[in-house]
Amino acid sequence: MRILLAEDESGVAQFIKKGLEEENYTIDVAVDGEEALLFVATQTYDLIILDVMLPKYDGFEVCTKIRQGGNSVPVLMLTARVAVKDKVQGLDSGADDYLTKPFSFDEFLARIRSLTRRQSSGMPELVVGTLRINLQSHRVFLEQHEIDLRPKEYGILEYMMRNKGYILSRTQILENVWGYDFDPSTNIVDVHIKSLRKKIAEFSEQKFIHTKRGMGYRIDLPEG
Ligand code: CA
Repeated sequence: MRILLAEDESGVAQFIKKGLEEENYTIDVAVDGEEALLFVATQTYDLIILDVMLPKYDGFEVCTKIRQGGNSVPVLMLTARVAVKDKVQGLDSGADDYLTKPFSFDEFLARIRSLTRRQSSGMPELVVGTLRINLQSHRVFLEQHEIDLRPKEYGILEYMMRNKGYILSRTQILENVWGYDFDPSTNIVDVHIKSLRKKIAEFSEQKFIHTKRGMGYRIDLPEG
């Protein structure tokens, strides 16, 4: 799952990013309201987390503009203010939920699960043949065996399974799993794909991940 976080305090942003990455989410960080809107205009997110106090456009304005553009992506507002007026304003601007800083990370994760569950309702699992992943628990199974994946391996698998049958380029995979925080010359995608294949091969001789030379990778029903 891919999340946009708009937060101008870099310490807070890095803390949240690291915590969410450990839970297998992919995070892009925008440092002000203008950048957040640019990300929203060019990328697809499963959730947007908006700090209220942001430079250029504040969180309320960003949320209003997102909704004006017809985008119904779930929005979680983070506010240091506790005034009822602000909470009402947040919800009026089109936010789905809000959380007051400081918050417990467990509660934060629970809110995120709840908001993304609403978005993907009826689709708690992705399945390709005998391979299945649970989008809520982030657990992966091949037949009855659980496969233990590292966060980015899980991210790649989820992204590929959401786009079953389509060839995905390295750049697409980098953008969707690592966010914008990557070096385009890296071979990190190939390294992770190799490791994923190896972990799948521990339980099955079937080949799920196919290479299209010069184009990228595709996940599909096993051949043969
Ligand atoms: Ca702020």
